[in-house]
Amino acid sequence: MTHAIVIEKTDDTQSAALRDIDLPPLAEGEVAVDVAYSTLNYKDALALTGAAPVVRSFPMVPGIDLSGIVRESLHPDYAPGDRVVLNGWSVGEKYWGGLAGRAHLKGEWLVPLPEGISLRQAMAIGTAGYTAMLCVMALEAHGVTPDSGEVVVTGASGGVGSVAIALLAARGYDVAAVTGRESETDYLKSLGASSIVAREELTGKPRALNKERWAGAVDVVGSTVLANLLSMMKYRGTVAACGLAGGMDLPASVAPFILRGVTLAGVDSVMCPRPDRIEAWQRLARELDMDKLESMVVELALDDVIATAPKFLEGQVRGRIVVPVAPE
Ligand code: NAP
Repeated sequence: MTHAIVIEKTDDTQSAALRDIDLPPLAEGEVAVDVAYSTLNYKDALALTGAAPVVRSFPMVPGIDLSGIVRESLHPDYAPGDRVVLNGWSVGEKYWGGLAGRAHLKGEWLVPLPEGISLRQAMAIGTAGYTAMLCVMALEAHGVTPDSGEVVVTGASGGVGSVAIALLAARGYDVAAVTGRESETDYLKSLGASSIVAREELTGKPRALNKERWAGAVDVVGSTVLANLLSMMKYRGTVAACGLAGGMDLPASVAPFILRGVTLAGVDSVMCPRPDRIEAWQRLARELDMDKLESMVVELALDDVIATAPKFLEGQVRGRIVVPVAPE
């Protein structure tokens, strides 16, 4: 028996509540993890509110992320006491997730937590921070270096955006932060942004091409903002696109690709192969300034997660939410 948030659906009505549940017996290859921390991500908020059809079977325990300690293992790579982190693999969508006291997970989904990252810091990073690192890796893979010119991060005050700014600034990039919240200017500069761009500069009707402005971009917004970004990229620039906070569409033209050799690099964290995950987590342990990470954190009790989810979708949350379940 464990305490968990459970989403249920009857007819067309979805509801969520905190209650005790029985987990299915541990199967061969699975690992039982005592959850220390979880988090509230954009996708968890979609699942909890039903704003998008994220949950694929009911009842569902949401929570696409967790950090914790192995309690029991039927997988050769893990033993009781190991510190592990879990991101994605459709956990919290198709398989019971991390907003619970315990989770039963396939061993191959887990990543051993690198030395130097606490269980709490792992969830301050969460899928948002690990995705930010995948975006940085995508820019590097396409040859964007600090010497290439200024890079830009959209949705800057959010989870992915905040961590992306800190990571890029630490690697020596000049970082422009695009935000709809002017009030977050000091916060964004404290993370390492060298300039602030008002979101309205990227929400007009996209033209095929605009003045060349940025060598690289991390985009969490999609839609018109992404289309405008593409039109403003420097010759052979790269946009790492990972989000849809502004919409799923892309009202762009092919001009940036065929006239400026711009690359649109898609970034997915959910099914990302294990070697890339391990590299991303090892680099996060080495490169992310943990004081900056702490400045992004808001703690939220498991009891308050359901009520907070709608505010998350309104873009009212800054940085990263950490949910202590059974803290160290
Ligand atoms: P978040 O914390 O809510 O941040 C999103 C930020 O986007 C907001 O803080 C806001 O920043 C900006 N924003 C919100 N609504 C907007 C709108 N309508 N138009 C323009 N900007 C808007 O969410 P997150 O955790 O960073 O995730 C961001 C996106 O990435 C989500 O779409 C999420 O689903 C996606 N994501 C994808 C992956 C993947 O594997 N591909 C992984 C993680 C997240 P400002 O107030 O500063 O403008």
